[in-house]
Amino acid sequence: MAHNEAVDVVLVGAGIMSATLAVLLKELDPAIKLEVVELMDSGAAESSNPWNNAGTGHAGLCELNYTPQAADGNVDIKKAVHINTQFEVSKQFWSYLTKKGTFGSCKTFISPVPHLSFVQGNDGVSFLKERFKTLSKHHAFSDMEYTEDKATMAEWMPLMMPGRPADEVVAATRVMNGTDVNFGALTNQLLKHLTSAPDAQVKYCKRVTGLKRNGSGWTVSIKDVNSGNSREVDARFVFLGAGGAALPLLQASGIEESKGFGGFPISGQWLRCDNPEVVKHHQAKVYSQAAVGSPPMSVPHLDTRVVDGNKSLLFGPYAGFTTKFLKHGSFMDLPMSVRAGNIGPMLAVAKNNMDLTKYLVSEVMQSMEQRLDSLRRFYPEAKAEDWRLEVAGQRVQIIKKDPKKGGVLQFGTELVAAKDGSLAALLGASPGASVTVSIMLELIEKCFPNKASGEWAAKLAEIFPARERVLETDAALYRKINAHNNVALELVEASNETESYA
Ligand SMILES: Cc1cc2nc3c(=O)[nH]c(=O)nc-3n(C[C@H](O)[C@H](O)[C@H](O)COP(=O)(O)OP(=O)(O)OC[C@H]3O[C@@H](n4cnc5c(N)ncnc54)[C@H](O)[C@@H]3O)c2cc1C
Repeated sequence: MAHNEAVDVVLVGAGIMSATLAVLLKELDPAIKLEVVELMDSGAAESSNPWNNAGTGHAGLCELNYTPQAADGNVDIKKAVHINTQFEVSKQFWSYLTKKGTFGSCKTFISPVPHLSFVQGNDGVSFLKERFKTLSKHHAFSDMEYTEDKATMAEWMPLMMPGRPADEVVAATRVMNGTDVNFGALTNQLLKHLTSAPDAQVKYCKRVTGLKRNGSGWTVSIKDVNSGNSREVDARFVFLGAGGAALPLLQASGIEESKGFGGFPISGQWLRCDNPEVVKHHQAKVYSQAAVGSPPMSVPHLDTRVVDGNKSLLFGPYAGFTTKFLKHGSFMDLPMSVRAGNIGPMLAVAKNNMDLTKYLVSEVMQSMEQRLDSLRRFYPEAKAEDWRLEVAGQRVQIIKKDPKKGGVLQFGTELVAAKDGSLAALLGASPGASVTVSIMLELIEKCFPNKASGEWAAKLAEIFPARERVLETDAALYRKINAHNNVALELVEASNETESYA
């Protein structure tokens, strides 16, 4: 075994989360010494890869599950507003980096794509109308348009309207300033930018195999996946940004805060179309409602994707069950994660979520014809020969202890941090990459509280002139920041009225 090396920070995994945190830390403290350790031979090889996620810049503009309707008919917009302002925080970071000049172009990773919601049937239409009424009063959604007019919808979604029954009841909303984000390109751009600075390294084909307490920090065991050689690195802080595989590493750390967590892996598939004749008729991300009883991540959507300068369409996702925690993981991942501390919550979730399990099994068993039938609810004239099935990334949903139910399944993300701030892990998958920057700012405040409010405070304020909570309530500031970000990220052209906050 090689003699221990020492760095300030080890980040496990080269996905969007670690890449963002590493670049943020380096901005805040240029002298910090850090190492990103990745088991694959490139960055963004798992969920952050552009074909493993939908690339939606989640801003609450079109996702109907972010605005639940109560029994009295009222629509709750809190979650949509929060995610919208979190995305605006991500955009502030990307704008800041783009303006530095050394980061590269933003056109490689973010593209303007309108976000639409589409509903069918009387219940769907009355929900969408109520949602529009409530949401469009908020400054973040004031540009939203609503229509029940089929001619207008045919302009908004030319691929989706022909071939529908004349008496079909439908409605749609549209927001023009939605985005498609290539999170893979962004991750690799962040990693390239990171390694252009001194004392920042990304080591590929290396697997983190263990974590041991070492004074106030950690000793991280790292194995070369090609040679089998191992080495140890001492770090004052460790981030487990290993995507679905963060859970077993968190368990290996043995920290008190890791107890009771389990994982429920859900796989996914898409239908993909690259035929330019079809693709050119759909320039939008169109989200609809999930089938009754299905989990939130199975909301169907037909999306324009912009990857490496080419446009394609993605439809899905079709969910499925697997025991792997990563797309390139092992079928033993789930069984190996069972511990005395989480078996209770895991069994409770298995017992209380039989409908979900049945739903996932039925999704896996679907034939290509059944998948095309789902697509034809969106695009009635879809031809089988234009579409092919592709495997999406893995999501590992969080299982947590619950005093009443024994265990609950959670569909969001959770930052789990050691009390002394020496280690943190990110569990869960949604809303994911779009809100990475907010999650990493939360991590910095939790694990580096003195620095965040002390020597790093001025730089944080320079990069982030307005955080989520302020943007949620201050309409004038929201408009200023949003307009600035949209110009900086080349999503709109600069106008004379665009103010600069720099
Ligand atoms: C089907 C699907 C659709 C999605 N759609 C969207 C969307 O439209 N918009 C959105 O914002 N988000 C979306 N997401 C979520 C988003 O993709 C994820 O939240 C995000 O990519 C997670 O990034 P990460 O860095 O945590 O993990 P990952 O990108 O999975 O990276 C983890 C890395 O850790 C490495 N690793 C694992 N174990 C080890 C180890 N022991 N040693 C070293 N390296 C290790 C892996 O190889 C991998 O490269 C979607 C996710 C899925 C699965």
